[in-house]
Amino acid sequence: MLSMFTLESIFIFTILLGLSLSIGSFVGMASYRIPRKINLGQTDHPYLLGGRSQCPQCNRGLRNRDLVPILSYLLLRGNCFFCNKKISGRYLFIELAACACFLICILASNDNLVRISLFCFMVGLLLLSTIDIEHGLLPDQITLPLLWIGLIVNLYFELVPLSAAVLGATLGYVTLWLLYWIYKFLRGKEAFGYGDFKLLAATGAWFGFQSIPSTLLYASITGLIWALLKGFIEKSPIRSVPFGPFISFGVIIYILSSDTL
Ligand SMILES: [Zn+2]
Repeated sequence: MLSMFTLESIFIFTILLGLSLSIGSFVGMASYRIPRKINLGQTDHPYLLGGRSQCPQCNRGLRNRDLVPILSYLLLRGNCFFCNKKISGRYLFIELAACACFLICILASNDNLVRISLFCFMVGLLLLSTIDIEHGLLPDQITLPLLWIGLIVNLYFELVPLSAAVLGATLGYVTLWLLYWIYKFLRGKEAFGYGDFKLLAATGAWFGFQSIPSTLLYASITGLIWALLKGFIEKSPIRSVPFGPFISFGVIIYILSSDTL
């Protein structure tokens, strides 16, 4: 009986792991298409679902077997089947990151509903971080729904009380908004983008006002270390660092270190 249960768990775990890799593959495609369409002003176009994924170099539609996460990349040795040019390693990295998100969700809670909610949130973070790293952009099309979904999740499933979530969304936005204006007043420069305010607001909507100080602290420390290291390696001071990935990292550390879930 025990061995059957274990076999069944392993089967379900493998299916879910595969699903998380496929979601990672979708994130890779979405993070490629969304900013390009925004830059072309085509935000009302159904660009995510329309059209088969293509090789960016030769524009040939990928075959079904080329869409299998990780395996297709390894079998083709990172080259396009048609033109043989190098495929960016970003797809492989994003698929593995989605897989890591799945494992973090398994570790973070014993409740399956919490795990599923958390995975949705982390997929949103992965999509935003990728776009921020590549384009210095945190699109409203992703940050705002992430915020509303956080409030709805807390309305029905109460990861944190709804009052804490509403306060969290407000505190997340206002904290960075204040820091932005103080810095702008003192130095005449912009320290953050408006997308950062909305991402921190979304974090508060999901995990309450308690999550904001720690998230901001972890994000600032890691962001600062990253900027110093990068400046040291490149031997020139770094003028700006996309803050979205560090907010994402900060909130994941908060989730893993707090016992709220
Ligand atoms: Zn090609």
